[in-house]
Amino acid sequence: MTLSGKTALVTGASRGIGAAIALGLAENGADIVITDLERQAEDSAGVQAAIEKTGRKCYNYALDVTSKTDIDAVVAKATEASGGIDILVNNAGILVPGLLSEIDEKSWDAHFDVNAKGVLLVTNAVLPQMRARKAGRIVNIASIAGRQGVPTQGHYAATKATAITLTRVYAQEVGMDGITVNAICPGIILTEMGKNNLGSQEAIDHWSDVAALKRLGDPKDIIGPTVFFASDQSQFVTGQSLNVCGGIYFH
Ligand code: NAP
Repeated sequence: MTLSGKTALVTGASRGIGAAIALGLAENGADIVITDLERQAEDSAGVQAAIEKTGRKCYNYALDVTSKTDIDAVVAKATEASGGIDILVNNAGILVPGLLSEIDEKSWDAHFDVNAKGVLLVTNAVLPQMRARKAGRIVNIASIAGRQGVPTQGHYAATKATAITLTRVYAQEVGMDGITVNAICPGIILTEMGKNNLGSQEAIDHWSDVAALKRLGDPKDIIGPTVFFASDQSQFVTGQSLNVCGGIYFH
């Protein structure tokens, strides 16, 4: 299988896109380190059981991506248990909509802490071992919102634009160490976040109709592109951001 012998760490992996990616990477041969907030312990245990059913190893740790202390401890434990992290998927994210003119500082900071600083902190914790091995794959889950900017999601879009920029700059800073860094920009994916964001069946129907493929995304739609970026199939691709949106956005 494509990812045999590799270990992947996925953040925000208890549900939604992160859970699908974790299971999808396992189905393609990787052992998986799943991480999510402590409050998601029950869902994380379910994902762990599903991964173990594939025959792959699964290590499960509570991790808040805004806490450097947590990150350093979990990366150390996961590295020792698994033998090393070859693939990092920065997936954890939050979206609480609000108009920019009304947004409070607390919400702005919370979005940047999780969606932007979280990418920085987890990446920096994993990079030293990738550099030492002269190999690594990093996949950041950004958003088409980060390319386009969407009303009521200005703060979120700014964090995702940051994730796209971090992807480009990391790629140039670590390419000489055999590490690639790419991003996926999902469109509207029907997870808790996606459904809350749309709010109504009318909105789901509207955006399904706008999409070239006439449907919205399922978390499983993100697996193939992640496996591609995580594998040697993409060995000459770095610093890129790929829209995975069913043809809802084209730039
Ligand atoms: P989701 O269903 O809300 O899952 C996100 C997971 O991240 C949740 O388990 C959440 O835990 C966790 N999380 C939140 N804050 C965290 C933190 N500080 N540390 C670690 N984990 C944390 O969302 P999703 O739709 O799967 O989204 C996954 C990623 O895709 C996000 O980065 C999102 O921005 C991106 N994305 C999603 C869509 C979409 O339409 N769904 C579109 C474009 C991009 P809690 O629920 O307990 O907070």
